[in-house]
Amino acid sequence: MLQAIMTKPGVIVYKEIEKPKPKGNEVLIKIKRIGICGSDIHVYHGTHPFTDYPIVQGHEVYGEISDIGHLVKDFSIGDKVTIMPQVTCGECYNCKNGKYNICDSLKVMGFQINGAAQDYYAVPDKLVIKLSENILPEEGAMIEPTAVAVHALKRGGSVKGKNILVLGSGTIGNLVGQVAKGLGAKKVINSDIIEFRLNIAKQCGIDLTINPMKYNLEKAIIKEFGENKADMILECVGAETTVSQAISYARKGTNIIIVGVFSQKPKIDMSLIQDRELNIIGTLMYQKDDYLKAIELIEEGKLLLKNLVTKIFPFLEYQNAYRYIEKKNGLAMKVMVTFN
Ligand SMILES: [Zn+2]
Ligand SMILES: [Zn+2]
Repeated sequence: MLQAIMTKPGVIVYKEIEKPKPKGNEVLIKIKRIGICGSDIHVYHGTHPFTDYPIVQGHEVYGEISDIGHLVKDFSIGDKVTIMPQVTCGECYNCKNGKYNICDSLKVMGFQINGAAQDYYAVPDKLVIKLSENILPEEGAMIEPTAVAVHALKRGGSVKGKNILVLGSGTIGNLVGQVAKGLGAKKVINSDIIEFRLNIAKQCGIDLTINPMKYNLEKAIIKEFGENKADMILECVGAETTVSQAISYARKGTNIIIVGVFSQKPKIDMSLIQDRELNIIGTLMYQKDDYLKAIELIEEGKLLLKNLVTKIFPFLEYQNAYRYIEKKNGLAMKVMVTFN
């Protein structure tokens, strides 16, 4: 079978390796789809701070079980599945207190340990989640980023009946907006400076999409949500401009969730955070409950994920998928790789 290895930034080579045999509690997955996300692109560009080379990428996965270890009880050959790509220690303070997503020695498949970019991939059964036949392969490969959105919103508290402002409408911002609606938010505004992304957010049922380069964002917030503005704000860009927007347009006492990954240190006005009693809350990845909630929302038809898939490349054109994302420069949402 073939494995796609990134030997150094920008270079992917294919290696013929032996098909893995699942150990006791492992399942062997025939990989069908892999989604490429922003963090993968950082690895491709050599700008991911916590990844060394060579590395096999692939953490947004849909596949089918082709073999199981002798201790596996909950899965059978032929099951459609996705995986949770987190390998945790089980020993640290957060692991012992139910927050294993922020394990002290968290390792993520595709970053600190090899991921699923190969024909078959063996994973411990506790990291595998069974999917019904109703879930399409592309949807299955997007459960991981959807779980990111579920977890981020959970960090801000309940969204039911609330007005939610989402800054940024790339894949994660879009999913945060859609999941907020799926969980019963009253109204959702999504912003972005790229019209292509705003159009997709609109197609996905976001109540108001706005380009702050063209319109006054604060006025739009008041017009759509009323004088009390947003009940929760999610920053899904990872940039100084958007985090500043969040802080300056927030109602006093608001929860601001930082979902975006910052590649540069932003200058922000701490005096506003102090004076307005704002709560700045971080969020990282997800836990199993977030996966299950993401799957439930997809099953209930509350998320339009198909609209997010811009293009699908064959496994042997992995590198072209990256080149395509580079060339599109923001005008691509989810790009995927498909296997035979
Ligand atoms: Zn991802
Ligand atoms: Zn731990």
